[in-house]
Amino acid sequence: MAFDPTFFQTIRTLYVQVPFCPERCDYCSIPVSLRPDLANGYVEALFREKERLLHREDLSRLETLYIGGGTPTVLEPGLLSELLDGLKKELPPLAEITVETRPDVLTAEMLSLLDSKGVTRLSVGMESVTSSQMGFLGRTMDPVDSVRFVEFVRNRFSGRLSMDFIVGGAGYDEKQFLEAARTLLTEGLDHLSVYPLTLEDQTSLKARHLRKELPCDLEEMAGRDWQSAVRKLASLGWHRYEVANFSRSSRTECRHNLRVWQGFDYAGLGAGAHQRIRSVRTVNLPSIRSYELSIRRDMHPVHLNETLTDQEALLEVLYTNARISYGFPLDWVSSAQTGKDMTRFLGEWVACGWIDSLRLEEGRVVFTTAGWDQLDTLMGQLWSVLD
Ligand code: SF4
Repeated sequence: MAFDPTFFQTIRTLYVQVPFCPERCDYCSIPVSLRPDLANGYVEALFREKERLLHREDLSRLETLYIGGGTPTVLEPGLLSELLDGLKKELPPLAEITVETRPDVLTAEMLSLLDSKGVTRLSVGMESVTSSQMGFLGRTMDPVDSVRFVEFVRNRFSGRLSMDFIVGGAGYDEKQFLEAARTLLTEGLDHLSVYPLTLEDQTSLKARHLRKELPCDLEEMAGRDWQSAVRKLASLGWHRYEVANFSRSSRTECRHNLRVWQGFDYAGLGAGAHQRIRSVRTVNLPSIRSYELSIRRDMHPVHLNETLTDQEALLEVLYTNARISYGFPLDWVSSAQTGKDMTRFLGEWVACGWIDSLRLEEGRVVFTTAGWDQLDTLMGQLWSVLD
């Protein structure tokens, strides 16, 4: 099946950014407000942006809604309820509705509210299992007993449960993390996302790094720790279906992210939200105030806008599909598609153990664990051949 960009030009996912939080974490670069009590105007702006989207685009094939942040559950319950109702209005029935949260702001009442509003998936930023790493990351909350937390959620929420963890930094302990991950799998946790600590610009952690208060190879160490942890998670029985994402079984993969990685168009609402529709990629203004002001003045709240060429669209889809365990069809890099003979090139990748030889014989390019370990380098090589 040749690569046909128009096949992917249907909007399957809608992401909504709710940039309000109970505190600012030291590693996080998202512009967030610590005043969720001032979120009324923002929610109004989201509704107006959604109206414009509905007016312009066909959302009839939308499958998922993802309300991320930020920490959407810090909104006052009445406002969150209004947000969920307003967002779902005029959308087709959705297969998955995810809300992001943190364990320290997830009350029993909030869980019941989310359940009653048809939320099907919770994504919880646990981040760490040790107090010292939590402190290093700039979180004031203590690590939560994840088993008790699963029980607490399960008793009040009927949807799926996912947790995020960060690997690396002072206080990170692989043994404790893997022990928690093993127990969580036994307890029936549906999904796990595991990211290496990175030093983003405009963060307290980066500032400390620039002041030389942190080890200079902090990111490299976190990358190595992450590689070690993700390999071991797979051997514990977690199904690694994307470079940094694991599910209990193929039924509990995150449908929202999967559709984005598969290459379908995605829409986004809110400050800093990303969107790609018919090869036009846009990023909204990151500042809450500028975003709200722009919407109120009937302007486009966009601060970046670029149109991808067919070649760029192909490279992007190859890259995101390479990250998932399904890989991509061999035809997408065939000589008929690209005008290049890739036989020798792919043969070398097979010989090095970076792609799966059996899957290649079946007509798919699927990366192995060793291939995923150096995916950026490999995709860079592929781009230089195809470019
Ligand atoms: S990491 Fe999450 S909770 Fe912390 S500031 Fe960023 S968005 Fe908010």
